Amino acid sequence: MATLLSAVKALRAHPDCGAVVCSSVYETAPMGPQDQPDYLNAVVGLQTELSAFHLLSELQHIEYSHGRTRDGERWGPRTLDLDLLLFADEIIDTPKLSVPHPGIAERSFVLLPLAELAPDLIVPNKGSVSNLLDQCSPNGIRRLNSTL
Ligand code: ADP
Ligand code: MG
Repeated sequence: MATLLSAVKALRAHPDCGAVVCSSVYETAPMGPQDQPDYLNAVVGLQTELSAFHLLSELQHIEYSHGRTRDGERWGPRTLDLDLLLFADEIIDTPKLSVPHPGIAERSFVLLPLAELAPDLIVPNKGSVSNLLDQCSPNGIRRLNSTL
């Protein structure tokens, strides 16, 4: 939780990011290997004049400054994972950056916090966040009382 708070603080302090809003925090069982602690997930909305690629590199910079390394197994434990879920209505499909983030439409730990901030938002080619949430099962996810 301290890491999440610190990451949000870094975004709020970033000179190129404004109007930062945060969802509740959700505790979720891990995807992939099960022999790791539960994850904490939240969604942040912000305004920026940066390009999507530039924003991604700023997010990666915040990950690294919180001790993130990229030598572990895929879906293994990590200190902080900042993914770019949506960037306005842009569709980007490159090896370095896919937007909308692949899997956004099926993951309740993404859709539940996203629906708090923007239930009517349209995920390009997929429909509204609230409709996607209705179609997906919220198994093993718990909303915490803490705020970011
Ligand atoms: P994951 O988030 O899939 O668990 P990583 O955080 O290590 O794994 O990301 C691996 C790579 O995924 C990054 O180096 C980045 O270039 C790429 N990537 C592609 N699309 C996105 C996105 N929408 N948000 C964040 N990273 C992305
Ligand atoms: Mg990531």
